[in-house]
Amino acid sequence: MDVTTDIQFLPGMGPKRADLLKTELAIHTIEDLLAYYPYKYIDRSRFYFVQEINPDLAHIQVKGKLRNIKKTGQGRNQRLSAMLYDSTGQVELIWFQGIRFVKDKLKVNVDYVVFGRPSVYKNFYTIAHPEIIPANPQNEQKQLGWQAHYNTSEKMKKHFLNAAAIRTIIYEALKLVQQNIPETLPDYLLQQYHLMPLREALVQIHFPKNADLLKRAQHRLKFEELFYIQLSILRQSKYRELKFKGFVFPKIGNFFNTFFKEHLPFSLTGAQKRVLKEIRQHVGSGKQMNRLLQGDVGSGKTLVALLSMLMALDNGYQACLMAPTEILATQHFETFRELLQKMDVQIALLTGSTKKAEREIIHEALRSGNLQILIGTHALIEDVVVFKNLGFVVIDEQHRFGVAQRAKLWGKNTQPPHVLVMTATPIPRTLAMTVYGDLEVSVIDEMPPGRKAIQTYHYFDSKRIAMLSFLKKQVEAGRQIYIVYPLIQESEKIDLRNLEEGYVFFKEHLPNYKISMVHGKMKPKEKDDEMKRFSSGETQLMVATTVIEVGVNVPNASVMVIESAERFGLSQLHQLRGRVGRGAAQSYCILLTPVKITTETRKRMDILVKSNDGFEISEVDLQMRGPGDMDGTSQSGMPFELKIANLAQDQHLLTLGRKTAMEILETDPSLEAQINSILLFQLKKKTKNSINWSVIS
Ligand code: ADP
Ligand code: MG
Repeated sequence: MDVTTDIQFLPGMGPKRADLLKTELAIHTIEDLLAYYPYKYIDRSRFYFVQEINPDLAHIQVKGKLRNIKKTGQGRNQRLSAMLYDSTGQVELIWFQGIRFVKDKLKVNVDYVVFGRPSVYKNFYTIAHPEIIPANPQNEQKQLGWQAHYNTSEKMKKHFLNAAAIRTIIYEALKLVQQNIPETLPDYLLQQYHLMPLREALVQIHFPKNADLLKRAQHRLKFEELFYIQLSILRQSKYRELKFKGFVFPKIGNFFNTFFKEHLPFSLTGAQKRVLKEIRQHVGSGKQMNRLLQGDVGSGKTLVALLSMLMALDNGYQACLMAPTEILATQHFETFRELLQKMDVQIALLTGSTKKAEREIIHEALRSGNLQILIGTHALIEDVVVFKNLGFVVIDEQHRFGVAQRAKLWGKNTQPPHVLVMTATPIPRTLAMTVYGDLEVSVIDEMPPGRKAIQTYHYFDSKRIAMLSFLKKQVEAGRQIYIVYPLIQESEKIDLRNLEEGYVFFKEHLPNYKISMVHGKMKPKEKDDEMKRFSSGETQLMVATTVIEVGVNVPNASVMVIESAERFGLSQLHQLRGRVGRGAAQSYCILLTPVKITTETRKRMDILVKSNDGFEISEVDLQMRGPGDMDGTSQSGMPFELKIANLAQDQHLLTLGRKTAMEILETDPSLEAQINSILLFQLKKKTKNSINWSVIS
């Protein structure tokens, strides 16, 4: 038997339970089983004396003998009790269920280890339904110390696969294969970082001797996981670097210079300049660029995109910009057209609703090279869209696009074009390093001058009426207002009802104003028309679901009211808030929640009231919710899933893992060296089920 053995061959397992582990937890081999790490530990390293029991202890473990084992009551009132005593006193053990089964196991004059939650009854301590096992060395080794607890499903529990059963199975498995567990990290790394060998780490993670050894085991396993993720990502990007030469943009020419000198509507912020320099350097280097441009809402990413695209034009290439929605694509198109109106640049918009005739003209102009800049939605990546010489791609609001779509854009030329991915959902560094680990990161961390920070307030629903007079004042002053409702995905009906009730409420209470309403169920054309009525100032209020979340730009809107704010994620709230504060006027964001909210929600509202900094907010989001749940990111970009490391808590280990991976790849990019053979082997094994996007294009 070794780690590759099927779990069904473990003693005492049986085909039924093995099947359950396979279907419920995808545990097939002993190796999978050993990598099923506990989610928590309970300290069962010591025995208490009966005398020490007090009601504050959540759990207690005592050792002693039994007397007075007796069954009392009838039918449903039946109970089984026994007195457990040690040298200091006695405590009552009590069972209401499974009585016959338990009774057969209990004997007087035998030492037992008992574990459970004590409660007081008439000055007397009882432990109901305790865990009870005969005190012998084997049991103690298996059950004592820091006891591991495992997640199990209801279905598993029904078939006696509870945490204790899993513990036993793992115990048996370890006993059988421990000597045959192959090391998964090279010796030199174990030495360099004083890491616990895998063999010992697996024993300690499931059956920790003490807190210190547990910590060391966790450290080793987390490091390994994060290190391999980084190694995988970085090796792929090295590979890409070797395989694809990037287009070289050696010069800055007329397009860029004319625009910069004559048509730039304002001077760039320091951050915009710095980022442009980073991009310029990259596209001039001969390496293909895959860069993530992070910048808070309103930080001026669009201008950076435009200037970068002009660099491409200067070097004889075409450029395109892809946005997630039609509204956004159109908005970008209009912004670009206005900025470029005095220049001789051919630019077009391509979306799902572009008419066939126009579409064909665009396709032709792209192929001939007459069209220099194309802006659009997903329609851009369709196969019929063929460029003469695409050199630069901008993707706005990255999180709506998958890695696969990015790969598709790479395929639009003989060599992949440079790619700039823009996101207004700031991602904490650690997350960027994993989810987008193959992207280099540029950050715009400075707002254009003259912006007034948005003032944010958290009100309970009960203050809604009072809020109205504030809204009135704003509209009287010529401002416009958004009122946003959460999108409830499971039930579009409720979603609409909330929205419609809201519409009626505001219609009733603010009868003198015109109200627009936009939601996801509307046809794109209706939506667009309604958006236009609002952005042209024809309507003063916009009642909407989150369709307005990204990119929409109405500088005259100065108030964002968010209904049921507790239903939104932190980053999403921050995004929504970013729809105001785009003009010169002081802007406001009002978060409405019920009076009864969880401490969590309270914390989320507080951070928004306190901070306007997207990075600070995303960091809090990561700490509070964990990486898997964060807005705007999914772990889909990761080469494999994390089992033990936590991106929120293990940032330093991630950094260490990345640094280590870089150092190794620096000297041995394809991992051919003998000392790195373990690395190559493990990498292949770990990523065998994931897709290598770098070779798809
Ligand atoms: P985002 O980063 O959210 O995409 P935009 O590019 O839409 O932000 O810019 C937000 C607003 O700020 C736009 O109206 C834009 O014209 C303006 N803007 C961008 N850069 C500057 C600058 N350097 N100085 C002043 N205003 C700027
Ligand atoms: Mg934008």
